[in-house]
Amino acid sequence: MHLINADLHSHSNVSDGTLPPEALAERAASKGVELWALTDHDELRGQARAREAALDLGMSYLTGTEISVSFAGETVHIVGLGFDVTNAGIRAGLAATRSGRTQRAKDMAEGLAKAGIPAAYEGALRYVSNPDLISRTHFARFLVETGICTDTHSVFRKYLTDGKPGYVPHDWAKLGDAVRWITQAGGVAVIAHPGRYKFSPTAEYALFTEFIAHGGRGVEVMTGSHSAAEHIRYADTAVEFGLLASRGSDFHSPGESRTELGSLPDLPGRLSPVWQALAPRIHRAT
Ligand code: AMP
Ligand code: MN
Ligand code: MN
Ligand code: MN
Repeated sequence: MHLINADLHSHSNVSDGTLPPEALAERAASKGVELWALTDHDELRGQARAREAALDLGMSYLTGTEISVSFAGETVHIVGLGFDVTNAGIRAGLAATRSGRTQRAKDMAEGLAKAGIPAAYEGALRYVSNPDLISRTHFARFLVETGICTDTHSVFRKYLTDGKPGYVPHDWAKLGDAVRWITQAGGVAVIAHPGRYKFSPTAEYALFTEFIAHGGRGVEVMTGSHSAAEHIRYADTAVEFGLLASRGSDFHSPGESRTELGSLPDLPGRLSPVWQALAPRIHRAT
């Protein structure tokens, strides 16, 4: 059976990627992606451009976003796919989720200044294309530029994660709200990269059961964030909870991302791909 090359998780410079939506679409097509979704953090501003570019290049397209959620003391990401981008509920919900980012960034810069790194807010802003969407990734790029760290991963480890000088706790959206914004706009909610969260087995079980109780239907099994063992583990989780399975590189930037667009292994045949359930929502090149 021919499995479609679907990549349903990626970022443009409308959030914390480095390529504009059109260039990202070109890269996806050149890497063999047949069905693509741009999933910028908490933001839909790139959707029309991504869809048009995808269709021009002969790819099919699903609308997407990745919503920042606070759950059990951790930040969890929920990917929304195939929803109506004009829906007022999801647009308002994402605007509210974005709204605290600028103050958080100023507070992060204050923490970094105390650790001897001045003017990080202004520095990070130079990497930002969408002023509503300043993220830790933009700080990481600035700190690499200053020579304090050699790569963005070590910046996160030393400066931008819980307990480190540039980390500021933040209240993101509630899990139930994020799932409802997506589903009420006609889309499917998907738990992004579950292997990344530092949950106890009990908290992870709570995440999956509450997500499903709110109407969530999918989980990312194949993601650039998972090891080979986690691919198997979360394939089992998808079966156990009866969830649709997704596949997405989480590509951000040619220089930074370890996983290329369209390059992950296929979903195991025993799983139900989320894009089959979303078939009526797919935009297709004519
Ligand atoms: P924010 O939404 O501002 O908290 O930024 C979160 C983003 O930071 C994620 O979407 C990733 O792109 C990036 N990120 C988080 N942890 C790491 C890490 N350890 N190494 C590199 N990038 C990371
Ligand atoms: Mn990101
Ligand atoms: Mn994420
Ligand atoms: Mn992502």
